[in-house]
Amino acid sequence: MNETFDVVIVGGGLAGSSTASVLAQAGLDVLVVERETEFRDRVRGEWLAPWGILEAEALGIRGLIDSVAHANLITRHVGYDETLTPDEAEAAALDFPALIPGGGCLGVGHPQLQEALLANAAEHGATVRRGTSPARVTPGNTPTVTYSLDGVEHTATCRLVVAADGRESGIRRSLGIELHSTEPHVIMAGILVDGIHDWPAEQQAIGVEDDFHYLVFPQADGRARLYGAWDASDKHRYSGDGREQRFLESFRMPCFPVPDAIADATPAGPLAGYPMTDTWTDQVAVDGVVLMGDSAGWSDPIIGQGMSVTFRDANLITDVITATDDWSMPAFAAYGDERRERMRRLRYASAGSYLINGFGPEARAKRIRLREKFAVDPMSSPTVSSLVGAWVLPEAAYSDDAWNALVAV
Ligand SMILES: Cc1cc2nc3c(=O)[nH]c(=O)nc-3n(C[C@H](O)[C@H](O)[C@H](O)COP(=O)(O)OP(=O)(O)OC[C@H]3O[C@@H](n4cnc5c(N)ncnc54)[C@H](O)[C@@H]3O)c2cc1C
Repeated sequence: MNETFDVVIVGGGLAGSSTASVLAQAGLDVLVVERETEFRDRVRGEWLAPWGILEAEALGIRGLIDSVAHANLITRHVGYDETLTPDEAEAAALDFPALIPGGGCLGVGHPQLQEALLANAAEHGATVRRGTSPARVTPGNTPTVTYSLDGVEHTATCRLVVAADGRESGIRRSLGIELHSTEPHVIMAGILVDGIHDWPAEQQAIGVEDDFHYLVFPQADGRARLYGAWDASDKHRYSGDGREQRFLESFRMPCFPVPDAIADATPAGPLAGYPMTDTWTDQVAVDGVVLMGDSAGWSDPIIGQGMSVTFRDANLITDVITATDDWSMPAFAAYGDERRERMRRLRYASAGSYLINGFGPEARAKRIRLREKFAVDPMSSPTVSSLVGAWVLPEAAYSDDAWNALVAV
């Protein structure tokens, strides 16, 4: 079957579906091909940063995110940690609405949000095909996307292909675009749990206990997305039978005011872990194809930026496509430049997170000293960008001098 569209988007995750919604509303003829017939919990992002909320508002999808079952506005951050009593941690809590535009952070189920956004794209007139075989893309002035569905081969001709096919992007590989990567410091696993009724729904927590860097992001109705990170050399720490329970046991922490609040929860999804890396590409477009979301390189999930990065990509790409008829490779040069610098600044933030949240006595002492410094000068924390985005602090905040000053603390 041969068909023609203005834009073909490969991948119907958050990147592809949010882009499709905007383009379809602008009156363009859009096809989305998505290989999954139903989205499942792959242990992906469920914490949307305040700056990501602003990007979602600009895309017109904030209301839709709020309407996803169990979506929850988190307004308070407490850094429960082995170096503090629970009272000390609570006394130093951050109230997001007073500090940051966006009102807070959002806890939201990832597969549910994917379904809602893809349905939204279809409602706005995008053609959505699910259960497709891996698509083959031919770049050029009139690019094509070839895929099979129900045993029938389809070739879609278009003016632009948007590669939104995630971390393992077959399109990125087929175009020969190199993916640069940092070395993993930690493995991070995540699990969705129900039944954390002794934990305030509006409160997230991040900190370290012993050799475990934990993150708790509540959703509504006693649900939470938990992440935990440990040294990358300990590859099989939570593998084998009973791994979910052993992972939850790690959350029975003396630094929590109610040590059992999280550990006694009930798993509501799989436990999956990955080595944590930042990745990036030097090039985000070739003639006829533009990369976005994880396919263009991802921010280290330890700082929870992927959804926000994706929504910003969607804003920048749809701005180009809707503003002009020039969809050539040079038209996406500004997007490429912005993304390269944005990802560099976010790499600074993730490196900062490792500096703050290290394991062992030296790292613990360093964490105490850094906390004292950030109490006086909150904007000197390298992880501020993970809340406000990469474009609020001045360039000097991401310089070698700024980094060396942190390392010297
Ligand atoms: C452990 C972990 C924790 C994370 N935590 C956070 C967090 O708290 N906050 C946050 O903001 N981000 C987080 N992230 C990152 C975030 O989940 C991702 O950055 C974001 O989901 C990227 O969206 P995407 O649409 O680019 O990619 P994906 O969600 O991977 O979507 C790609 C889609 O393309 C489809 N596809 C792939 N190949 C093809 C093909 N050939 N043909 C058709 N379809 C195809 C796939 O089925 C998929 O649906 C986390 C990531 C990990 C791994």
